[in-house]
Amino acid sequence: MIDQIKQILALQEAEAVIDHIRSDAQVYPDRLDEVQKAYDEKKRISDEAKTRLAALEAEHADLKHTLSLEEQRLEKSKKKMKDLTKVYEVQAMKKEIESTERSNSDLETKILEKDEDMSKAKKFLEQFQTELDQAKAVLDDVKSEVETKMGEYDGILEEKLTIKKKLEAECDRSILSSYRMIRDRKYQDALVPVIEGACQGCFMNIPPQMANLMMQNPTQLEKCPNCQRLIFWHEDEAESA
Ligand SMILES: [Zn+2]
Repeated sequence: MIDQIKQILALQEAEAVIDHIRSDAQVYPDRLDEVQKAYDEKKRISDEAKTRLAALEAEHADLKHTLSLEEQRLEKSKKKMKDLTKVYEVQAMKKEIESTERSNSDLETKILEKDEDMSKAKKFLEQFQTELDQAKAVLDDVKSEVETKMGEYDGILEEKLTIKKKLEAECDRSILSSYRMIRDRKYQDALVPVIEGACQGCFMNIPPQMANLMMQNPTQLEKCPNCQRLIFWHEDEAESA
């Protein structure tokens, strides 16, 4: 095989690797994005539960404070009642005491309810922490995997881009421009061999006259009349024919 065919084939191979890496590399940021979103969602749920627990604790403290003030007031009223002499005053005080006792009992019920809500919220947070930790571990794993992979890809890309540049500088200008035109507009495999009379791009037979010419002059590049790819005579053709 002559040098210019070898060069274009090597260029084509380098470009195939570059294309492959560029499309494959896109998979990793997408995957990272996915696990990041999954973690963010769990973090949001956990933060919301923490905020709710803090609110419950504040409400609980408020209720307890109110209850203790009311209990003090009740004690005072009970003491005061002993000193009262007039019947209507005693009756009024009795009513007040009864009403305070009822509202204090309501407060106690509310405090118990808050207690229950708080322990539910705490239990949820405790259980959910495991899920959150797992999501964080997955995120960290994927992050480091992506970093490693991107580093590898960067290395290969740099190498292949250097090869590509060098080959492009060395290739015959007009062949390179035909190759570039076909590769950019139609096919990634712009240069293919002819094996057993068939173009290996479209697998159609080339006309016998063209095949004869190519066989006689294997350094010549032609265009497949069917698919327009650049074609070259495969060196093993003479042996296998
Ligand atoms: Zn063809």
